[in-house]
Amino acid sequence: MTSSYIKNGETLALDNAACIGCGACVDVCSHGVFSLEAGKARIDRREACMECGACARNGPVAALAVEAGVGCAGANSLGKLRGTAPSCGGEAGGGSGKGTACC
Ligand code: SF4
Repeated sequence: MTSSYIKNGETLALDNAACIGCGACVDVCSHGVFSLEAGKARIDRREACMECGACARNGPVAALAVEAGVGCAGANSLGKLRGTAPSCGGEAGGGSGKGTACC
């Protein structure tokens, strides 16, 4: 079974020209989003991205960008319970009120 998170990791962006193929993203992503192909990172499973930010923080050349904190399993679960799009729901929903998850 494949897990999916908020809007298919829509904030995850890969700059192929900047990528040096170090493989850090493959190593740090616990969701198997990336592979290496011809010396460059490739996004294979965008739908599995939970926007944790680990890949963007650990790459040496800033080839990856993601709005970390936008997505999380908690927000996804809250959305499912409410029957809405995944969201922390701000202060009324028990979130931080910043419109982001867990921060
Ligand atoms: S943000 Fe996290 S889950 Fe998404 S691709 Fe990067 S390391 Fe993987």
